[in-house]
Amino acid sequence: MDRRRPAPFIAGNWKMNLGLREASDLARKIVEARPGVPEATLVLIPPYTALAAVAAAIAGSDVGLGAQNLHWEKQGAFTGEVSGPMLRDAGCGYVLVGHSERRQLFGETDEAVSRKARAALEAGLTPVICVGEVLEERDGGRTLERIDEQLAKGLGGLSKGDLERAVIAYEPVWAIGTGRTATPEQAEEVHAHIRQRIAESYGNEAAACAIILYGGSVKPANSYPLFREKDIDGFLVGGASLDAGGFIGIAGEALRAYREEK
Ligand code: PEP
Repeated sequence: MDRRRPAPFIAGNWKMNLGLREASDLARKIVEARPGVPEATLVLIPPYTALAAVAAAIAGSDVGLGAQNLHWEKQGAFTGEVSGPMLRDAGCGYVLVGHSERRQLFGETDEAVSRKARAALEAGLTPVICVGEVLEERDGGRTLERIDEQLAKGLGGLSKGDLERAVIAYEPVWAIGTGRTATPEQAEEVHAHIRQRIAESYGNEAAACAIILYGGSVKPANSYPLFREKDIDGFLVGGASLDAGGFIGIAGEALRAYREEK
């Protein structure tokens, strides 16, 4: 499949970390370092409580803002939940959907992921839809089967236009926060498979344009070889995104691979 590779897309998932002062400081440091990685798309995903502070810190820059979750309803009696329109109001352009910690710790199903992805799109947010196998599935040779299931259910109901506004993140659960990264070959196998499935459902053009991120213990030292793989368009970074040097270092290494290819 012919495709012009997009510049690296690097999103930092801060998870349940950082108070207001720390979040603002980190965002400010990233904005300061941003000119060093000009082509990369950078998105910061702080906890809800820090969204406004981070929005203020990145104002006037082209660094994007995302949230870690949303509810599929727009409003109502859903104590503790936050809706897509509320996230738009808070300045978000992106939202994670179906992160493995949501699936594993909070029982989020593929059906919920699908509803959330549609609600995000309806609110004008770009959903970053996460998929990935657990260790048992990988060891049992069922990785691609599990990815197919998550894609079929998670993307179910999305039109071609919807898909063009979404981002997919492949995050093998055994590699998240464990220090264990998928090898570039392991990651590329799944990324190519996801792109192929998108081609089958939405056509080659949609597949060529789809942004597919890798996530799982990404750091500056492994982002160059991962980004050299042709179907890896960027990274969803957890732990290493809590440090401006680590986050920008990952973008810089991906950019080095991107520029070499041109
Ligand atoms: C994540 O939270 O999406 C993630 C990939 O975490 P880490 O980089 O820490 O493995």
